[in-house]
Amino acid sequence: MTTEMIDTDSLRQRLSELRVRLQAELNHVRDTDAADTGAGKMGDFDPNHPADMATEMFERELSETLSENVEELLHKVQRALTRLDEGRYGRCEDCGKAIAQARLETVPYTSFCITCQARQES
Ligand SMILES: [Zn+2]
Repeated sequence: MTTEMIDTDSLRQRLSELRVRLQAELNHVRDTDAADTGAGKMGDFDPNHPADMATEMFERELSETLSENVEELLHKVQRALTRLDEGRYGRCEDCGKAIAQARLETVPYTSFCITCQARQES
């Protein structure tokens, strides 16, 4: 054991907590979606008020976007936990170099070093 080692225990805990929160968020979004598309919801919806319709559309779009992002994030968190289990955590999946610890503390579910991440986003 050296002091440079990544503190996997606290990272695992953070990732686990994040996974639980994301899972709950995902369930919540799905529940809301189901309620929105369910019959009988139009009861107090007034088509004569365009603002209501705009809000309705905006909220639907927002919940879809959120649902996608949460799912993607959850997937990343799960993969990070797998890498922790397999002892591959903290290495860039692209170039294989060690990911800076400061970066891991900020984005514990990241799979890439900052260089590869920047290259992918550009
Ligand atoms: Zn890299």
